[in-house]
Amino acid sequence: MAEVFEVRRFLQGWAVLNRTTKERESGFYSSRSPALTRCDAMNREEALRRRRKTRACLCCGRSLLSEGNHNRMCDRCRRRSHEFNPAMVEHPVGEI
Ligand SMILES: [Zn+2]
Repeated sequence: MAEVFEVRRFLQGWAVLNRTTKERESGFYSSRSPALTRCDAMNREEALRRRRKTRACLCCGRSLLSEGNHNRMCDRCRRRSHEFNPAMVEHPVGEI
């Protein structure tokens, strides 16, 4: 998996570099290890941010904050699809 941030040695010390923009995104560290820790945290945050993005609902097109590919319908449509799904008739919604 291609990560956005990596640790690079600069003249002033170690720092986190954004591979895409080539911009330095952290302060300088005198040793590599704290820079790596910072870099890991930034990559984790970035991965979360990418997964959690706004998508359009498959049914009505309204935008929703999706947690991932499994989540592509807004709450309203998800409730409706349960109401109208014939397979659900034997197990009416509301008795959860
Ligand atoms: Zn919807």
